[in-house]
Amino acid sequence: MSDRRQRLLVVDDEPSTRQYVAGLLGDRYQLLEAADGADVLVLLEAEPEVDLILLDVMMPGLDGFEVLEILKSSPELPKPRVIMFSARTDTDSKVKAFAVGAVDYIEKPFNRGELVARIDTQMRLQRIDAELRQAKQEAEAANRAKSEFLANMSHEIRNPLNAIIGISELLAATNLDAVQRDYLSTIESSGNTLLYLINDILDYSKIEAGMLELNALRFVLASCIEGAVGMVRHRADEKGLALRIQLDPKLPCWFIGDDYRLRQILVNLVTNAIKFTERGQIDVEFRGAPTTDPVPVPFMRAADEDATAYRLHLLVRDTGIGIPPGQQARLFDKFSQVDASVTRRYGGTGLGLAISRHLCQLLGGDIWVDSSGVQGEGSTFHCTLVMPGCSARCQALPGPPDVDDRKPETAAAIDNPLASLRVLLAEDNLVNQKVVLKLLESIGVRANLASNGLEAIEAVERGVYDVILMDIQMPELDGISASREIRHRFPPHQQPQIIALTANATEEDRRICIEAGMNDFITKPIRAAKLSAVLHACLTPTVDAIHAAGSPRQSP
Ligand code: ADP
Repeated sequence: MSDRRQRLLVVDDEPSTRQYVAGLLGDRYQLLEAADGADVLVLLEAEPEVDLILLDVMMPGLDGFEVLEILKSSPELPKPRVIMFSARTDTDSKVKAFAVGAVDYIEKPFNRGELVARIDTQMRLQRIDAELRQAKQEAEAANRAKSEFLANMSHEIRNPLNAIIGISELLAATNLDAVQRDYLSTIESSGNTLLYLINDILDYSKIEAGMLELNALRFVLASCIEGAVGMVRHRADEKGLALRIQLDPKLPCWFIGDDYRLRQILVNLVTNAIKFTERGQIDVEFRGAPTTDPVPVPFMRAADEDATAYRLHLLVRDTGIGIPPGQQARLFDKFSQVDASVTRRYGGTGLGLAISRHLCQLLGGDIWVDSSGVQGEGSTFHCTLVMPGCSARCQALPGPPDVDDRKPETAAAIDNPLASLRVLLAEDNLVNQKVVLKLLESIGVRANLASNGLEAIEAVERGVYDVILMDIQMPELDGISASREIRHRFPPHQQPQIIALTANATEEDRRICIEAGMNDFITKPIRAAKLSAVLHACLTPTVDAIHAAGSPRQSP
């Protein structure tokens, strides 16, 4: 609030009352006067910075109550504090004054000391109010600036990181000596660490700013779990750990929820389980049962009438170092790790579980851990969430005849189902083109190339593609507009799955992609395992996605 003197508007049809108040308070506040209700409204329109109104109840024309009613229902007029005063001393009048928005009521004739004290009090409260409002505005502006900064940073960092990680992966497939291979693995693991760090910080800052919004999409639970576990399976393989998934067969196969966030929780928990386990196995188990618990609002809105709410219970059980009981609760606080020696040995930011807890709570559930704390007995992380499931939809899926008919049945396609996918890569950046094509090649996928959105549309016009990997920022026509055009222009049998490839990782970017009709979302840097998981997921529900373009899915 500025240092200007506070303004008091005295409204009374009696000039003597106005003069009396001016005499009492004129040296403390800047006094404004109005002789009737209509004058108040005109004055407030011209002079919105009034801090307090001392308003007579009984006046010719509009009375005090009517003035407040009009003020209340006029969004364009300011809403200063109002003290009403009147010779009416009955309780009904006082109650009515508060009901229409007055903050105080003073009986006439005034007691001089009481009048001054009450006006001073309201002026003080008004000043505090204004200061709080200003502080809130400043905090919100700073928070917005921070979020924008983080979003820009993540974009700027992801692009070069894409090249570093992608090229290292390509380099790893060439002939290298042991020393070179060692150097390369350091580059790769540092790149990955940096990437996890950026993602975690970005997510946590969004959660703190209350900006993390849920998407509500129809997805196949089994694909989601397999996709998430598939992304980290190689780490378990490297350590010789068995990694098993068990999905309750009674669960419906389709759910409506935010599969991206579910994958994120799963990846966090399974990554930790692998990280803190040296031998034995990791079990991922999904159970669930119908529930009457509240469903998160976005899922509720998107659910079909035949959907049933399920409480899902995810367990990730390991045979690792365990967590002492006294340490368990605070692990879910941000930056919290068991102790400094664990941090030194295993690294990490201590944000993964804090993020997972927020996500579980957003998803209508909670997260906790069971562990005896004994090395080798391991830990079991439990996570619950509520989502509508729809088994009927799943069984009613149309079969895939026309898609299969069009596919070449080569030996490669039988060994590697991905080989049968017809993929178009729409990407303008030459380095990224090279990286993604090579990564695709490394998982047995051949792709055609389009260098912008227009070329992508032309390609779909010429031939049938199962999947388009679509960059967002491209010259001529960007990926968003191209996706909209493809969804709009082509018949169902010519509709590919569209996977956004983007360095942008904000919730807003994801929402825009999904709304443009894209099915899935991969943030850069792109890795072979991630591509493979997403393309595998494309194999299962291809037909459904084609028939119901606009039921998109995403992946972390
Ligand atoms: P980070 O792993 O990045 O440190 P998290 O929030 O994911 O952050 O985990 C916080 C801490 O919880 C870890 O540092 C570790 O001390 C402990 N922790 C998490 N998962 C396990 C597990 N499966 N076994 C043992 N300790 C674990």
